[in-house]
Amino acid sequence: MMQYHGTTSLHEIFGDLVILRNLQPFDRRLPGLADAWQAMGLDSPAIPRKHEPEYAKASVWFVTQARALDLPATPVRELLFIGDTAMADGNAFRNLARAGGWPGWCFIGAEKLSAPASLVAEADNVSLANRWALLADWLAAAKGAGARLDEQTAVVVDMDKTAIAARGRNAHVIDNARVEGLHRTAAGLLGDAFDLARVQAAHNELKEPVYHPFTADNQDYLAYICLAVSAGLIDLPVLVEQVKTGQMRSFEQFIAWADGVLDPRRSTSPEQSNVSHDLAGLQAIHREVYPLTLAGDPTPFKAFRRQEYRCTVERFGCLPEDAPVEQMLAEQVCVTQEVRETALWLKRRGCLLLTMSDKPDEATLPSSALAAQGYLPLHRTASAAVGVSVAGQLADL
Ligand SMILES: [Mg+2]
Repeated sequence: MMQYHGTTSLHEIFGDLVILRNLQPFDRRLPGLADAWQAMGLDSPAIPRKHEPEYAKASVWFVTQARALDLPATPVRELLFIGDTAMADGNAFRNLARAGGWPGWCFIGAEKLSAPASLVAEADNVSLANRWALLADWLAAAKGAGARLDEQTAVVVDMDKTAIAARGRNAHVIDNARVEGLHRTAAGLLGDAFDLARVQAAHNELKEPVYHPFTADNQDYLAYICLAVSAGLIDLPVLVEQVKTGQMRSFEQFIAWADGVLDPRRSTSPEQSNVSHDLAGLQAIHREVYPLTLAGDPTPFKAFRRQEYRCTVERFGCLPEDAPVEQMLAEQVCVTQEVRETALWLKRRGCLLLTMSDKPDEATLPSSALAAQGYLPLHRTASAAVGVSVAGQLADL
């Protein structure tokens, strides 16, 4: 039965073994990518994307080093991976298992209560489940197949929509937080020129997969484009037409074009000067985003990400303990109880646990001003744990 299981934070499970998009662990005993890229076997300190082999190399290094922090003489011999997306997490698992030379088992959860419960094993020991509670069955199957589940086991848990905001159950809450972060960023930058309906229309259209070649499915790029449309730099139907006809092919092309329009040194005609005046808010953000984009920063829109943090953390622990479970799942970022129980069970057996997130620092940590007001990183912020208890099944394993 779906229930509230008290208040907790990810820190209970993972401590500070939390690794974000920039591959800089919270646990300061572990050096990050910027300092250790050579030791990781990488060619440069550039931040690799999740699907790239360099990301797996860095992850192997983190897993090995994290184990050595408390058990220096214990090698990692196998991998468990828990995530929510068959493609991204499944492939991250395959790459990591291959790069580490580890046998492994991967669980991909996405709740779908309208269908009968199913746990399907695919290629390479990747199992797809439509109930998070099937974690217990998955673990039993791994054990039956010879998994040791001990000090030599590393357990990597995806953070977003897995450890928190379970996919199929609670994930829309972090999506809503991001969209609200975009709205607040736009409102703050554009002032009187802010038009919520225009931002929403642009976001609803351009978030669709058909535009991924243009947006690279990158939330920062999407946010910048929506802001540009909202500010009146370009009309949405015109942009859509340009993308569909192949005239506008990539975000890099878009922002380079925007730079030409927004750069006041090039706005010599009176008409263009007018445009520049209306676009002052966009210009301010462009001066931050454009150089970072050119420098290859995958999350260049820092102001947007800081608002995303704010809107996300406001959804942690925001309801009273006696709120109905349905309301908690609808309005609050909840810790996934099935993942929590499974992870803590593995931890008691001595397994190494760490969690990884695609979010950049700005979306995960408070700014120094907010930290001074008592705001905490997301993994240390308390919220409700909600889910179907699997403790009884785990006790029988
Ligand atoms: Mg995820």
